[in-house]
Amino acid sequence: MLSFEEAFSKIITTVKRLPLEEVALVDGLGCLLASDIKAGFDIPPFDKSAMDGYALRFKDLSFQNELLCIGELQAGTSQRFVVNKGECAAIMTGSALPSGADTVVMKEDTEKQGEKIRILKSPRIRENVCLKGEDLQKGDVVLPRETLLGPLEISLAAGSGCSHIKVYRRPNVSILATGDEITEPGEDIGFGKIFNSNSCLLMSGLSKMKIPYTYLGIVRDDEDTLRSRIEEGLRSDLCILSGGVSVGDYDLVPKVLSMCGVEKIFHGISIKPGKPVFFGRKNGSVVFGLPGNPVSVFVSFCLFIRPTLDKMMGKKPILNIKRGRLTCDYNRKPGRKQFFPSKAIFDERWLITPIKDYHGPGDLASLREANGFMIVEEKISHLPKDAEVEFILW
Ligand code: AMP
Ligand code: MG
Repeated sequence: MLSFEEAFSKIITTVKRLPLEEVALVDGLGCLLASDIKAGFDIPPFDKSAMDGYALRFKDLSFQNELLCIGELQAGTSQRFVVNKGECAAIMTGSALPSGADTVVMKEDTEKQGEKIRILKSPRIRENVCLKGEDLQKGDVVLPRETLLGPLEISLAAGSGCSHIKVYRRPNVSILATGDEITEPGEDIGFGKIFNSNSCLLMSGLSKMKIPYTYLGIVRDDEDTLRSRIEEGLRSDLCILSGGVSVGDYDLVPKVLSMCGVEKIFHGISIKPGKPVFFGRKNGSVVFGLPGNPVSVFVSFCLFIRPTLDKMMGKKPILNIKRGRLTCDYNRKPGRKQFFPSKAIFDERWLITPIKDYHGPGDLASLREANGFMIVEEKISHLPKDAEVEFILW
């Protein structure tokens, strides 16, 4: 069986970056920029006032502190006039400076007496003026390709006049739950049935990442229906199934995936939970068959699905592994590498407390107390209090 590291690296080498697409600027949030954004003009595009006040010629203030106000400039006006010796113009924040003027005195430092403006506190030369091109000059790279687009980057691009940008495309994903016992929340539930936790977990995980998905519903453990639904799922860049990948008599997913022409990359990883995870590909799409237990689905989402989506979108597929100290002893049966639900608190350093009374991969309720997984290596059966451990926040 593959180790976690082997499985992770097989996923990352199999999954390819998706092609570029042009999107409306705001829709690029969370994507990686595929081409440089350059300034098409100087920013600011003109010398502008940073304050509400009066635009004046600095040198006039060396021999007078009263100026004649010859007009008013509102932000956005295209009106142009000249400020001559002994004159000033009322100016609002964001307006272009009138010719002749080089300095703005803020309104709070002046006194108006009719047309006359008395300067109470002399500004420094060019005070309260943003010079043309001082932030960025025409042709400067505003954002280089491969930049991850957050609100700040989107805003910068907007300020440079971009309405559309090229990014690496977001994958489209399909989600499929399998199992005769699985019932959608809201439906009647008979004895022996359980509600479907996995589909909502996957759908909301994807929504949080702004990844579009198609929900293909629940499929009974039946080859024919499974086959046609999987074929539908394979039209997406990524198809995620839950349930039916283990060794039970009705765990049909691996067999049916193979019938659908999916090439198996691996089936089984030496991890806990998540041992039966299946990973395969067909043409341009990749498929994960996840074990049905919700904690396994959650762990697999953090460990495999998120990095897969990142890689598809051109981002570095990294797991954010941190180090911290155990707040208590931890014991277990050694075996597979384990991702144990834990609570991490930062108090000068990360302090890790494994969840008490965790009942295994079906126990989603235990995860309410947790905010990450502590990583326990294969051979470890005991970790003393204060031991240094690795963990992943989710
Ligand atoms: P399986 O991987 O199909 O053997 O399922 C393992 C366990 O996960 C079983 O107890 C299933 O009932 C449960 N399970 C499977 N699918 C889901 C689901 N969509 N939501 C909640 N539990 C599930
Ligand atoms: Mg099942």
